Amino acid sequence: MSSDILYDLIFIGSGPGGYHGAIRASSYGAKVALIEKYERFGGTCSNWGCIPTKALYSSARLIAEIKKKSKKFGININGGMTLDFSKVVEHKNNVVKELTSGIAQLLKMKKVAIFNGFGSLLKGDIYNNFEVLVKNGETETIIKGKRVILATGSAPADIPVFNIDHKQILNSDDILDYKRGLTEAPKSLIIIGGGVIGCEFANIFAEFGTKVTILEYLPRILATEEKIIVKQLKKEFNHLGIEICEGKNVLSVKSDGVEVTAVTCDATIPRDQLKDAETQIFKAEKCLVSIGRIKVSEGLGLEKFNINLLRGAIPVNRETMETPFTGIYAIGDCTGLLMLAHFASHQADIAVINSLSSIGGFEDVFPQKVDFSTVPATIFTHPNIGSVGLRHKEAKEKYGELLVGRFSYASSGKAKCMDEEDGMLMVIVNKWTDKIVGASCIGEAAPELISEISVAMRLGITAHQLTSVIHSHPTLSEIVLEAVEDVHGMAIHKA
Ligand code: FAD
Repeated sequence: MSSDILYDLIFIGSGPGGYHGAIRASSYGAKVALIEKYERFGGTCSNWGCIPTKALYSSARLIAEIKKKSKKFGININGGMTLDFSKVVEHKNNVVKELTSGIAQLLKMKKVAIFNGFGSLLKGDIYNNFEVLVKNGETETIIKGKRVILATGSAPADIPVFNIDHKQILNSDDILDYKRGLTEAPKSLIIIGGGVIGCEFANIFAEFGTKVTILEYLPRILATEEKIIVKQLKKEFNHLGIEICEGKNVLSVKSDGVEVTAVTCDATIPRDQLKDAETQIFKAEKCLVSIGRIKVSEGLGLEKFNINLLRGAIPVNRETMETPFTGIYAIGDCTGLLMLAHFASHQADIAVINSLSSIGGFEDVFPQKVDFSTVPATIFTHPNIGSVGLRHKEAKEKYGELLVGRFSYASSGKAKCMDEEDGMLMVIVNKWTDKIVGASCIGEAAPELISEISVAMRLGITAHQLTSVIHSHPTLSEIVLEAVEDVHGMAIHKA
C-alpha cells in the first residue's frame, strides 16, 4: 500500500521528541505524519520513564511526609498507616493512561496523520523525495515526505552477566510497564547503578519499606553532580536505611527464582587478579539493573544513506539536528546527546524549524541552533536535586575567576513552615561579566527553583539584574533571590 499524500515532515517515534515536534510542525501549518510502533503515544517519558516514576514518587513522598511531619503538624493518624500497593500502581497507571490518551487527542486535533507500526527509511534524495516504510504485522505502507525526523528514543541497557529475566532481575520497564510492571513492593532490592534512575528508584522503594542496596561502579553515586549536593543526598539516604556501596564492580547476578545473588569486587581490582576472598556477595528478593540506556537506532535503514552509527547513536550536527544526509534529522535520546525529555522537545523545535525552513513555503520560520548551555536537569529523590549550566570545577576551568552565592533552606521562612529545612542553592557567576554560568540546588522543589536560573541564563540576565526582581513572600523562590544576592554578599537572611 502506498499513500499518495506528500507530507512535509515524517516523524518516526512519538516520545517527547517526536510527538512534540509533530504538534509544533503542524502549528506552523506543515502537513505531518507520525509513525509509532507501540500501542500508546508518549514514548519512554510517558510510558516507562519520567511520568510513571514521578507518580510512584508522589505516593512514596506522601508516606514519608505523613511519617515525618504528621505529629509535628498536629495531625493524629490514630488508626495507623497501611500501604495498599495495588492502589499505588493504579494511580501510576491512571496517570499514564490519561497523559498518553491526551497526547493522542492533541495529535488528532492538530491533524497529524498517525501510522501504527515500525518505521524505516526506504529511499530518498535531497530534493524532497523520501519514502518511509511502515510495517505493522503483515501490512506494509509506504509514505512519502519532504523531510524525515527520527525520534526513536532509547531502551534500558543490558549486560549478559546480569541475567535480566524480567521476573527477579529487572530493568526499569519491568517495574513501570502498565501491563507487566511490579504489583508488590519487594522486601529487599539490589539496585545496580547509582545514576539518576537508580537513585530515584532507591528513594521510592525505601519509602515503601523495601530494604535497598545500591551497587555503584564509580567512586560515588551521581558522579556528575556537585560533591556537596551528593554528600547531602547520601546523608538523607542513610537516614532512610539505603545501603550505598560505591566503587563496586558487579561480576555476576543470578536468581534462583526466590532470591537474587550479586557477586561484586572492588572496582579497582582487575578481573584477572581476583581471588575468591576479595569478592563480596549481596542478596535480595529482587534486583534492578539501571546501568544506562542504549539508543534505539537499529533497523531504520540508515545504511542506505551512509549514516554510520556512533556507538549506537544517530550522528547529527549538534546545532541543527541534521544527520550527515541532507533532509534526514534526528532528535532526542537516539542521538545520544543529553537523555532528557525536555531536551528531546527542544531538539524537536529546532529540527522542525530547520527542516521546514529548508523546504520552503514556511516563510516565518528561520533556522535556529540547539542550546546546550542552559538545559536544566532534575533528580526526583528527596530532597530533590536540580542543576543547570556548569558545575563549579568546569566553570573554574572555563572562566577562571568566579563568584559563588549560597543560600540555605534553613533560612527560608517558607521552608521552615513546610518543615523542609534541609537544602541549599548554589549559584556560580562569572566574576567579570556578572552572568550566571551554573547553579545546583538540593531541597524541596529544587527543579522549580532551578527553572528561574535557567530563564536568567538563557536571557543573559546578570546576577545583579536578577536581584532586582521582586519575589513573592513567603515562597521557596526567595531562596533563588537570596542566593543570587549572596553572590555580592548582600543576602538579607544569611547569618
Ligand atoms: P522516547 O521517549 O524513547 O520515544 C521513542 C518512541 O519511538 C517510542 O515510543 C518508541 O516506541 C518509538 N519507536 C522507536 N523506534 C521506532 C520505529 N522504528 N518505528 C516506530 N516507532 C518507533 N527525563 C527527564 O527529563 N525527566 C525525568 O524525570 C526522567 N525520568 C526518567 C525515568 C526513567 C525510569 C527513564 C527510563 C527515563 C527518564 N527520563 C527522564 C528520560 C526521558 O524519558 C527520555 O529522555 C525521553 O523519553 C526521550 O525522548 P525521545 O522522544 O527521544 O524518545
